[in-house]
Amino acid sequence: MKDLTINDAIEFDLPAPFKGRHMIAGEWVEGAETFERVSPSHGTVVSVSAKGGEVETERAIRAAKDTFDAGVWSRISGKERATVLLRVADLIEANVDRIAVQETLESGKPISQSRGEAGGAADLWRYAASLARSVHGDSHNTLGEDMLGVVLKDPIGVVSIITPWNFPFWILSQKLPFALAAGCTAVVKPSEMTPSSTVMMGELLIEAGLPAGACNIVLGYGQPVGSLLSTHKDINMVTFTGSTAVGKLITQASSGTLKKVALELGGKNPQVICPDADLESAADAVTFGVYFNVGQCCNSSSRIIVQEDIAEEFVARVVALSRMVKFGDPLDPDTQVGAIVTAEHNVKIDGYVQDAIADGAKLELGGKALPVLGLGEQFYQPTVVSNVSPNMAIAREEVFGPVLVVLTYRTLDEAIALVNDSDYGLSAGIWSENVHTCIEFARRAEAGTVWTNTWMDGYPELAFGGVKQSGQGREIGRYGFEEFLEVKSLVMRVGRNRAPWVQSDA
Ligand code: NAD
Repeated sequence: MKDLTINDAIEFDLPAPFKGRHMIAGEWVEGAETFERVSPSHGTVVSVSAKGGEVETERAIRAAKDTFDAGVWSRISGKERATVLLRVADLIEANVDRIAVQETLESGKPISQSRGEAGGAADLWRYAASLARSVHGDSHNTLGEDMLGVVLKDPIGVVSIITPWNFPFWILSQKLPFALAAGCTAVVKPSEMTPSSTVMMGELLIEAGLPAGACNIVLGYGQPVGSLLSTHKDINMVTFTGSTAVGKLITQASSGTLKKVALELGGKNPQVICPDADLESAADAVTFGVYFNVGQCCNSSSRIIVQEDIAEEFVARVVALSRMVKFGDPLDPDTQVGAIVTAEHNVKIDGYVQDAIADGAKLELGGKALPVLGLGEQFYQPTVVSNVSPNMAIAREEVFGPVLVVLTYRTLDEAIALVNDSDYGLSAGIWSENVHTCIEFARRAEAGTVWTNTWMDGYPELAFGGVKQSGQGREIGRYGFEEFLEVKSLVMRVGRNRAPWVQSDA
């Protein structure tokens, strides 16, 4: 039996390095300094970006605030906002290939997954456009004859958007169109590792006719750009996606101004496999769930919890599928598992695997970095580790790589206890043909999303987010949209019978 299915490097004319500039008040701004991104798979410089400092960040915040206050976006009709958002969606679809190639070169993810991410983002913009036209509050007509109460929904103001490297275009599209639909203005900071697709989005926003200053982009690092976006008094809300460690720093940094903070953080997402499940389908979904985006995915199903009677057979199925997963050159349209984002991260992944083996875990497959012919060495083999105990670091921490951990259980109660024995609570899943088992699990699992007999299906209509240390607030869907709205109560005396407070003695 072959060990792995490896796709060696294909012939591909790499584009010239992408030149990224800040977008401030509708203008492209060069940086006094720049930074480079070296492709994880191809080892060459693929982008050179302006490096933002305090000056550019202050300017971008000022532009977003002035634009918000001017009302050219915040006070126009929902219909006008929706028209712009729909144009952006069309432009995204027309530019999928360009965005996807750059995203694959910067992140190392397979090109098919970059194309899916960029193309799918258009749907988020279309859904947000529909919400722009449906903002409404409540009316209270039962407060007494003289009174009418109205609850209004206002845009929250200037929003800073800080995104991670692993789905830069998708996550930007989970936030920006919803903020814009609400009437907010924004300052965006993409990850320093994958800045270019956000700049490409800026180009599309200008082409779509978004007013200058409604969205501003500053490229650069957590310090000082992300930090200033978390502390500045003119930022009304920070929406952040990234690691739990940085999410905690942002919460601390933002406390000085008590701005609203929405956080989408890490996960250690379990799938429970019951003996009555469709095991073929479950094994395929587990394989997809752990290797999608090279396992560098907040929703990675990085641990499975399998009933002990079927564990051996089920692991054998997953290992057999893992050998067939196409691993290698991320530019090959056929590849399913690409490169690891940085050399340091590759070492960190391996550390988790080697420590687990040293503590008695069993390596079923993979377990080491592997160079791909014609490319660099920043790849990690699809890996399955069994005989893992729940207190090992590999079972508790976000490994963020193509590494599956297998735990076992005897009863459903035990399985649910293992699911909930985690600092994280992003997503969880169960595989069973028994609807009662699925519903009981869904009610008891501590997670923002529960999947039954499927994994990682998502829709713009459905809220996404985590509980516990996986985050706070919700993104997408109507609940995600509401995060960008402030509630204002308007109390109106409409009758003529107001009793005077001061009684005249006369
Ligand atoms: P990261 O936390 O290292 O960086 C995220 C962003 O924060 C980057 O733009 C970075 O420059 C910025 N940043 C760093 N320090 C900062 C600071 N002090 N103040 C403000 N901003 C700062 O995360 P990453 O490595 O880019 O992404 C991987 C992480 O993101 C994983 O933990 C993953 O689970 C998580 N993630 C979560 C979701 C979700 O929806 N829950 C989605 C994708 C990724």
